[in-house]
Amino acid sequence: MILIDGKKAAAELREELKKEVSELKSKHNKVPGLTVILIGDLTPSQIYVRNKEKSANEVGLKSEVIRYPDSVDEKTVLDKINELNKDDTVSGILVQLPLPKHIDKQKVIEKISPSKDVDGFHPINVGNLSSGYESSIPCTPLGCYLLIKKIEPNLTGKKAVVVGRSNLNGKPMTQLLLKENCTVTITHSRTKDLKAECLEADIIVAAVGIPELVKGDWVKKDTIVIDVGINKTEKGIVGDVAFDEVSKVAKALTPVPGGVGPMTIACLLKNTIECFKRSQK
Ligand code: NAP
Repeated sequence: MILIDGKKAAAELREELKKEVSELKSKHNKVPGLTVILIGDLTPSQIYVRNKEKSANEVGLKSEVIRYPDSVDEKTVLDKINELNKDDTVSGILVQLPLPKHIDKQKVIEKISPSKDVDGFHPINVGNLSSGYESSIPCTPLGCYLLIKKIEPNLTGKKAVVVGRSNLNGKPMTQLLLKENCTVTITHSRTKDLKAECLEADIIVAAVGIPELVKGDWVKKDTIVIDVGINKTEKGIVGDVAFDEVSKVAKALTPVPGGVGPMTIACLLKNTIECFKRSQK
């Protein structure tokens, strides 16, 4: 079984991005810039944002974090996004989710210019991805896609089962696999026989949020299994895939932690660079 090392893949990607930033700097005399808006003091969000800032600096991006207290009003945030949309030194804007209840998430997402939407959540980017046009792609599914392609460069004709249909993970993952000519089944909480669906798959991507949902006898030999889940349990952080069982049958499997997670931030940096390059065309 191939243990898919997300940490190593992310480090390799960051190294490539670092070179690209240095080339862009020579060519345009400026570097891509990522601005993150962080509202409130939720610890996980603080940690994510700190890691994003650290990684952005590591590859040579200009990075900035704008912090607001929980009590900030929606207009202040929307006005700031408007200002950043017009700022040429800002290539990518990310508003760290979740937001306090009094701020409308969708309004915030739609305020970000699609050309600076490094999360790929703006409806224009969602539409472009599903129509097969150039777009920002949500970072976690993009990371999963890059890991799958490392194991199997040609996905044409493969049967893929995506478990979970969230806008964040399942739906964009499905679009990426379709684009690669996979036959994709997208499953969810109302799917009648999830085990039977998974047993058909050459590729399984599990993005559910249920600890160890995908069992060893749900996976056929030679399947690539990507585990997006991050679940806190009594035995520590586990994924949506029963690692010990599935690792005995799968062709390749991502561990949790150390699989998909590290790729997510690296893909955010990649998206920022792509936004910059498109803005220079
Ligand atoms: P989400 O928005 O809660 O969506 C979960 C999806 O799973 C829904 O579509 C739901 O179906 C489906 N589901 C629930 N129970 C199911 C069942 N028994 N069988 C089949 N499908 C079922 O979750 P998310 O935001 O996509 O996140 C999923 C997991 O990924 C979480 O553990 C999250 O922490 C993790 N995550 C990891 C990263 C990373 O960087 N590694 C990034 C983001 C998220 P319905 O639509 O029918 O409700």
